This record gives sequence, C-alpha cells and structure tokens, in this order.
Amino acid sequence: MGKSKKRSARGLYVLLLLAVLLLLGAGVMLLLRQTQPAPAPLPVVETAPPSIPAVTTAAAETTAAAVTTAAADTADTTAAPVLPPGSVTGLRLSFYHAVMYLGDPGIMPVVFLEPEDAADKRERWESSDPSVAAVDESGKITAVSEGRCIIRCSSVSNPSAAAEVIVTVEPVPEMRTTPAMSTPSSTTHTVTVDETRKDISVIGGITYVQGVMIVNKTYPLPESYNPGGLIPEAAEAFSEMREAASAEGIYLFSHSDFRSHWSQAAIYSNYVYRDGIDGADRYSARAGYSEHQTGMVIDVNWPGEAFNGTAEADWLEQNCWKYGYIIRYPRDKEDSTGYKYESWHIRYVGREWAREITESGLSMEEYFNVPSVYPAA
Ligand SMILES: [Zn+2]
Repeated sequence: MGKSKKRSARGLYVLLLLAVLLLLGAGVMLLLRQTQPAPAPLPVVETAPPSIPAVTTAAAETTAAAVTTAAADTADTTAAPVLPPGSVTGLRLSFYHAVMYLGDPGIMPVVFLEPEDAADKRERWESSDPSVAAVDESGKITAVSEGRCIIRCSSVSNPSAAAEVIVTVEPVPEMRTTPAMSTPSSTTHTVTVDETRKDISVIGGITYVQGVMIVNKTYPLPESYNPGGLIPEAAEAFSEMREAASAEGIYLFSHSDFRSHWSQAAIYSNYVYRDGIDGADRYSARAGYSEHQTGMVIDVNWPGEAFNGTAEADWLEQNCWKYGYIIRYPRDKEDSTGYKYESWHIRYVGREWAREITESGLSMEEYFNVPSVYPAA
C-alpha cells in the first residue's frame, strides 16, 4: 500500500518533471526563433526567375570555390565552410528596393563589403529576369520592360555574401509625358509674407530668417558665395549620424553635397533639356537658387525616387533631426517648398532648429513663413 503510493507519487514526479522540461524546451525554441532575424519578405515574382547562366569569370573564382568545398569536405559537417584568406564575409547595398521608369537613366546601388579591407573585392551581378531589368558587371541597373525582378549582387570570393534589390519597372508616369500636368503648383499657392518683418535680414545678398540662412526659389545666393564644400559643423554632424546609423545596420553616405553656382547651372540645364523648364523646376534648382550652394546640404545615398521608402530613408526621417538635419522637402509640402518630396535631401540647421522644425511637422517655408516662388520672368 505504502510502496504503491510512493511509486505512484514518484510516477507523478517524473511526469511533472517531463512536463516542466517540455515547457522549458518549448520556451527556449520560442526564444531562439525570436532572436533569429526575421527573414526578409520575398516579393512575388510574376515569372519564375530563369536559372542564371554562370558568368564567365576568372579562374581564381573556380579555385576559390574548390578550396571552399575541399575544406568543407574534410571539416566537420556542422562547421562553417573555411573561406580563403582575404574573402568577403558580408555584403550590403545602399538600397534594396527601386522603382524605375522605362527610359530612366540607370541606377547603381553602392556596395559595402565586410571586412572593408578584404583582398578579393570582386562582385558578381545577376538579374533574375534581364528582360525586365538588366544589370552590367559594374552594378548599373537599367529598365528594359514593365515588370518586377530581383538584381542580386554577390561576392566572387564568397558567394554566400550576397544582397538583392527588388526592382519594379513601371511605365513613364503621366506627369512626365503631359506638359499640362507639370505646371508647378507653387505658382498658384498663396503664402503671403511681410517682407518688412524684422526677423528677415539680408546680409551680403544672403537671406536669413531668425538667423537661419534661407535658400529657395524666392531667396537666391550670390554667384560668389562659395564655402568650397560642406561647412565643418555640417560635416561633423553627418559623420556622427553615419556612425549612429551604422550601429543600427543602416549605411548612409553622401552622394553629393556642395555645388557651386556654376556646377548647379550645368545640372539644371541638363534637366531642362530632358524635362522642360516646368518639369525641371519641380526637382532641380536654377543656378543661384540651389540649397546645395550653402554647403549645408547633403543628398544621401541615392538621390531619386528609388530611395523613397527604403530602410535608409526611414531611418533618416526618424533620426536626422538629432544631428541637426531636417528633411528639407517633406512629403506633401510641394506647395510651400516648391519641390517634390525628396527623402534624400537633408539640410543642416543645427540641433535646436532641427528639433523645433521637425516637431512642428511644417516645412522650413511654413515654419518661417517665407515663400518659395521663382520671380516672374
Ligand atoms: Zn539635393
């Protein structure tokens, strides 16, 4: 009697112990799952990607591959394959998602390799569907026909170090083909500004509002204004921001910053040639009216609509104010700024102003109550 009780009690203990162990195991599994990075959602590709023929590459590649497999064969099956010295261990791109229009000039993601001093930096570029978007050996992507495909960049020394850009090719939007649609809305907006306001000052042809330099379609800079590059505070703040971003796995770099009066003149006239004056005025400044001439502006990573909505653009939007920068041409503010949304164009205004303006949710023009309209020709 006593024995059987003991036995059943022991049985219960064992059962309990098993249950606890099972629960623990399930918990650990759950934790492991959560700590693993979520797999990037793969887009639905309309057509199955054709198998990409092996690119004719240097003999070094095949030897590298051979070394890897040989090492893997002799090593424990669970051990990571041994890479030849100097191999790339990680690869990231400046953007992972791009919308291109037919006839666009090509786009080219910037590649970041880890370690930076890897000896073999060769990249291989492939398109899952070259009939939609083609890529050349330097990584330049060009739109071929409407659709969606994946452009993959991998390291030749270590093909497992790779990253992909999802490319969507769309037909040319209406606004670019219908001249009537491209009339800048800035000509019709009704911001009224009292030019006699005491907080606007013009010193040496440069306009300041409450001490902040303003450059837009109303307030140009003198041709001679030339800081020769980013002003030191702006440069320092940007490198701080870059560091903070990269600690979060976001890679930012300056695509272009300072432009002189004359380099802007050349850029603008190219755009006018392509899109006409009305078209060009929506996204490019006339010489003298470019904020890039201030030396306080950076176009980050990739200036162009393809950058909108990327993780890098989102990070910039959420964090650049902490380093004294603002998204200068925010969404839906074309009426006040005179420019379409530009997620990549950031302006240094110093930390206090950046916080104030960002918190207000206003564009710089709205915040300071200044217009941005080209003088009538
Ligand atoms: Zn810009």
